Amino acid sequence: MSLDIESIRKDFPILEQQVYGKPYIYLDNAATSQTPLNVLKAMNDVYNGYNGNPHRGAHYMSNKTTAEYEKVRDKVKLFINAPTREEVIFTKGTTESINLVAYSFGEAFVNEGDEILVSEMEHHSNIVPWQLLCNRKKANLKVIPFDDKGRLKVEEIPALLSSRTRLLAVTMVSNAMGVVNPVEEIIDMAHSKNVPVLLDAAQAIHHMKVDVEKLGCDFMVFSGHKMYGPTGVGCLFGKKELLDKMPPFMGGGEMIEKVSFSGTTFNQLPYKFEAGTPNFTEVIGLGAAIDYLNGIGINNVIAWEHELLDYARKQLSGIKNIRFFGETEHQSGVISFLVGNIHPYDMGMFLDKMGIAVRTGHHCAEPVMDHFGIPGTVRASFAFYNIKEEIDKLTDAVKKVMSMF
Ligand code: PLP
Repeated sequence: MSLDIESIRKDFPILEQQVYGKPYIYLDNAATSQTPLNVLKAMNDVYNGYNGNPHRGAHYMSNKTTAEYEKVRDKVKLFINAPTREEVIFTKGTTESINLVAYSFGEAFVNEGDEILVSEMEHHSNIVPWQLLCNRKKANLKVIPFDDKGRLKVEEIPALLSSRTRLLAVTMVSNAMGVVNPVEEIIDMAHSKNVPVLLDAAQAIHHMKVDVEKLGCDFMVFSGHKMYGPTGVGCLFGKKELLDKMPPFMGGGEMIEKVSFSGTTFNQLPYKFEAGTPNFTEVIGLGAAIDYLNGIGINNVIAWEHELLDYARKQLSGIKNIRFFGETEHQSGVISFLVGNIHPYDMGMFLDKMGIAVRTGHHCAEPVMDHFGIPGTVRASFAFYNIKEEIDKLTDAVKKVMSMF
């Protein structure tokens, strides 16, 4: 089956609007993707029909919310092929999921002199929580470098892993360069030294099949708002044997078994890590986003997005003095570039005035910019609802901006 993009776009009315009197071209999907009608309806249905606090009440609405909320846990379990539903924890997003692991895994397993290994191409949210942990525990953060094409130097990993390495955290896809990392190989290397691996799937979960059982990763994290779901929701997958040994991240309602001033005991998984009223409406919206993606079929998404990316690369390559960042064999979702000496902010501003949304700057990946000695890049990022005409318009607009400088 190939995608009927025209009818898909009808599910995203936001794409039909005009900005500055021009049809809007949205190419900032890696920052936040747009939300289909079925997701909005699912959330509307909560507020209009059964807005009750889950797990708390004995009344109809609370019970209905609880059932719908827990159904999404089963949906996520299937979507990522987690062995058990207890290993699926709802959070506010990728950032919170990583902070949860950095805090709780750190409390349980990291001591003075231990090491955490990350890559040079991580988003700040997969760097700073580990720096905070290392500061707290007097541990050391080590870094896997990448080369000038953006390829992670996996051959250096065995030497970077030591008897003190407690965890390796790496992104599946770089948000700044679109590079797809060979995570299976990385997991094998880490596991051969008994080092658990956290995968940041924020830029992967909607572009490829992420099967945690097949991958064998120990933790995997993602955000709803990058995969056509709402903001304020995301997931942490963690292996039960690790999560069981980790202390709670936050204290509050629902994460307890019994509270008294002489001592408190904690709930079982996954509730131990879901303190307070969860973003249940958004969780239910996330379930609808998974339904939408499943309806299209991940293989159709992969095929169309590859075609778009190849096309964008080909069209933009014709521009004089264009320089790409991320030129490996496996790229996904993102094309990052600079043209001549034009500052990325200037390029972004002019493109915006022409009705084209791209992201400019360091993309919360400053070490990547430091690697290349640049202040930032222009990043166009694609979703399955983008079309080739939009790429043509981007290419023409970039040429126009060039001619103005
Ligand atoms: N990791 C990667 C690779 C990302 O691209 C992003 C966001 O752009 C994040 C983590 C942080 O995601 P969030 O802001 O949804 O928590």
